[in-house]
Amino acid sequence: MLKNYKTLLFDIDDTLLDFKKAEHIAFKQLLAHHNIDYTDTTFQLYLSINEPLWKDYELGKLDRATVLSSRFEQFFAHYQLSVSGKECDILYRSYLTIGNQLLDGALELIDTVSKTHQLAIVTNGVYDTQMARLKNNGLLPYFKHIFVSDKVGFQKPDKRFFDTIWQEMNITDTSSVLIIGDSLGADIKGGQNAGIDTCWINPTHQPNTLSHPITYTVDALQDLYTLF
Ligand SMILES: [Mg+2]
Repeated sequence: MLKNYKTLLFDIDDTLLDFKKAEHIAFKQLLAHHNIDYTDTTFQLYLSINEPLWKDYELGKLDRATVLSSRFEQFFAHYQLSVSGKECDILYRSYLTIGNQLLDGALELIDTVSKTHQLAIVTNGVYDTQMARLKNNGLLPYFKHIFVSDKVGFQKPDKRFFDTIWQEMNITDTSSVLIIGDSLGADIKGGQNAGIDTCWINPTHQPNTLSHPITYTVDALQDLYTLF
């Protein structure tokens, strides 16, 4: 039950904000900048290049800078365009922050739990981008503590990412902390590595392939109300 916890750690992407929506908006803008017409096929092509690169990053095979720039170099090469991957990425990330990306009821839920709990953001991503997205979607004022992997120096599920949190928030009793997120491999595994309770947002009813049980599994963020 939520009242058993003092601190709630929230993931951002596909927990509070709709990352696919953000990605879609940004991609459309980037294409327009290069005078390429948007089609679903174009977007699928981009995803088919981008997703494996991020998987390699998560496995530690590629560094972040390489992923961020080579995804666009590879994509635009399909259109015989030679671009600066780095410049494309800067532009793309500026577009990633625009538009309403809130998942249904996210702002209301955060407003509610902010009255009873200490809240923190725990996200793997680029600090400036994640900060701008929180700000543009009205979430920033609710979070005094924000942990973004590229600033922390470690990413979920690494235990050291969480060690930074305990240190910065002066948390000694981690049994009073719950992590809430959609990613089994990053949020839930990370929570387990850190020895805290976990709440998995699992709308598509994926199986738990981790070796430890998950404290709570819900279909949607709003289901947290049932844990009050
Ligand atoms: Mg997520």
